[in-house]
Amino acid sequence: MLCIPRYVQNTSAAWVTQAYTRGATSVSSIWLANGLALGFLLTAPRSRWPWLLAASLAGNVASSILLGDAPGLIVRGSLLNLAEIALAAWPQGRSRLDLAALAEARNFWRFLVFGIVLAPVASGAVVAADAYGFAGAAFLPVWHSWSTGHALGMASITPVVVALRVDRFGGLFRREKAWPLLGGAIAVVGVSLVVFSQTTYPLLFLLYPPLLLVALRGGFAGTTLSVLVVVGIALFYTEMGRGAFVLLAVAEPAARYRVMQLFFGSLMLSMFPIMVSIAGRQRELVALEAIKNQLRVLAEYSTDVIILTDAKSRLLYVSPAVREVLGFTPEEFLQQSYLDRVHPDDVHRVASVLNETAEWRRLTHVYRARRADGQEIWVETQTSQFQEGAQTGRVVTLRDITRRRQAELALERANQELASLVWKDGLTGLANRRRFDEALASEWAQALRGGYPLAILLVDVDQFKLFNDHYGHQRGDYCLVTVAESLAAGVTRSGDLAARYGGEEFAVILPHTPVDDAARIAERIRQTVTLLRVEHRGSPYGVLTLSVGVAGATPQVGGSAQQIVRAADEALYTSKREGRNRTTVLEVQWSQGPDGVGTLN
Ligand code: GH3
Ligand code: MG
Ligand code: MG
Repeated sequence: MLCIPRYVQNTSAAWVTQAYTRGATSVSSIWLANGLALGFLLTAPRSRWPWLLAASLAGNVASSILLGDAPGLIVRGSLLNLAEIALAAWPQGRSRLDLAALAEARNFWRFLVFGIVLAPVASGAVVAADAYGFAGAAFLPVWHSWSTGHALGMASITPVVVALRVDRFGGLFRREKAWPLLGGAIAVVGVSLVVFSQTTYPLLFLLYPPLLLVALRGGFAGTTLSVLVVVGIALFYTEMGRGAFVLLAVAEPAARYRVMQLFFGSLMLSMFPIMVSIAGRQRELVALEAIKNQLRVLAEYSTDVIILTDAKSRLLYVSPAVREVLGFTPEEFLQQSYLDRVHPDDVHRVASVLNETAEWRRLTHVYRARRADGQEIWVETQTSQFQEGAQTGRVVTLRDITRRRQAELALERANQELASLVWKDGLTGLANRRRFDEALASEWAQALRGGYPLAILLVDVDQFKLFNDHYGHQRGDYCLVTVAESLAAGVTRSGDLAARYGGEEFAVILPHTPVDDAARIAERIRQTVTLLRVEHRGSPYGVLTLSVGVAGATPQVGGSAQQIVRAADEALYTSKREGRNRTTVLEVQWSQGPDGVGTLN
């Protein structure tokens, strides 16, 4: 189905060519049908070639029948044309060509060598041999006029077909090109009419300027189309015995046509380099334009702000996303310094990085920025240094990460809270038992390595059950908080740790502390609480008092922290037994077990 229009086209092209150009000689001076078929082949996938070749064959046969050729001639001529087309098309690559691709050096040379030279020359030789064999015609003239006519047809019509089928004339009729091109076309027609309608002056050279004009403006397709128009006009007038070719000093009409063919052939050939270079340039421009467009789309539709600065951090470009992220128009943003937008607290940090001359290539940065409306947001920037020729600078992509940052901060807070839940006592805020145990183990290990003494206090509130009974649990809690405060105030050295050991019992770890010093600290704490004079009717002292057990030792291999704790507990028990409100000290002697009990009050 698809081949029917092509079949019709081919038939009419072959017929028009033959009917119109075979007037003076038996061979056409320009053979369009094969150029047309070659154009179809080059722009179609290979799978379609059999159909296209069949259509071309049918077109040739039909046209020859219409012109009343002898059956033998019809068969031989049509098959020969078919072979010529196949030879011209075969070397081209597998992919479909557009005009720009045809103008590429490799494809163009294939087209020139096979399509314009080899195929017509070979088929011309066969025809000439055939004419010589069958009709005894002279070999050379037939060969020459067939080959040139076919070459001319290929050269002029193939690019036009390619342009029409794939590029829709490569934008030949785009509005911005239309007027200059129309001017060129009018010039071509006008000059052709002058050159070929009068037989007084040989003005062939006049054809070049308008054709060049068209080549510059209309490219490949425009030029070949114009050459076709010139050929048409030339043929028309030459047939009528007028024009530049009639002026030539060759009387024989056939020779005139040969000269005409040569002229147009060389005209086409001289136009080709120009057309190829223009097509190449246009292709580059189109590619450049496409890249430019892609870059523009990339910059404009990126949700990250893209910033370009020179080596001194002066702003050169900012993408439109700056409107959304920072609330500025790009123009407003470019008038500021980059650091203007950074939160005052972070300016130093960002500036020091920007001014760094170190060998960094890429940096990621998180800081607070200020929007145009004064709102503070968190941003993350990725900065890359670049060097393109002599130009150096930075590309910064900036992204609003406020929500992510808020989530991170919330997570950090939650983690801190969780840690405090794990390590802190909820009522008093002191370290809890778990923390105490961990700290004790590590302090023991360090003291063992360092060979220094370690002391432990166990502190118990006296008659606390009675306190609760008298004043209620809530007052009791409050009382525990007060004791915890006194305890915390009493151990100020870094490394000391006061913990709630359980219930109304507290414990203190004192690294680097001989047991005598620990006893003094214990006494101070005990006295501090006594001096608070917290009423305690259930106590014989009338106020809240503490009992303390102190134990200390220089750790040794084979001993354990638990032994010190047990000793402190023992000392505490002694304090209780001996009347409470006092401090008892026990020094652990590793070899003989605990001894040296003494009581302070
Ligand atoms: P002693 O002088 O022998 O230490 O007498 P005590 O009453 O202090 O000793 P005991 O160990 O028998 O009682 C401890 C009491 O401490 C029992 C409990 O009611 C109270 N207690 C323990 N933990 C808390 C607490 O978190 N809050 C309050 N308000 N009371 C507590
Ligand atoms: Mg108690
Ligand atoms: Mg107790």
